[in-house]
Parts: sequence; structure tokens; C-alpha cells
Amino acid sequence: MPPIIDEDKCNGCGKCVEICPNDVFFGSQRGEVPKVTYPDQCWHENACVHDCPKEAIKLRIPLPMMIIYK
Ligand code: SF4
Repeated sequence: MPPIIDEDKCNGCGKCVEICPNDVFFGSQRGEVPKVTYPDQCWHENACVHDCPKEAIKLRIPLPMMIIYK
């Protein structure tokens, strides 16, 4: 399931866009709240969640995958 961005917390820094290895936020511009362009490409690597300086991203981990997350 794709990431959810809290638009009230996001400052548009673009770190999540840069760090995502699967280009889930493809085409998003710095200074704007990123768009989840390719939600099906999200492999739940959690990089965007860890790198977001505003704690604005939540990742919904599918139940079968939760066993590998702490
Ligand atoms: S890393 Fe966080 S604050 Fe920066 S653009 Fe992404 S969601 Fe917004």
C-alpha cells in the first residue's frame, strides 16, 4: 500500500522523492507536497519514512509483511 503524506506537516523538501528507489513519487517537484505517482511501485522499504525530517509520511504495511518490520 502506498505512503500517505500529511500535507499539513510536509515542507516540500523533496527528500522522500530523492530517496525512494522505486520512483513512487516520480515527477514531484521540490517545494510542493509530493504526489504518489506510482503507488503500485511501493515495496515498503520505509526509506521515505526514515528520511522525512517532518515525520510527515506514514507507510501502511500489508499484514503479511509486518512480521519482517520491527
Ligand atoms: S521528506 Fe517529508 S517533508 Fe520532505 S517532501 Fe517528503 S513528505 Fe514532505
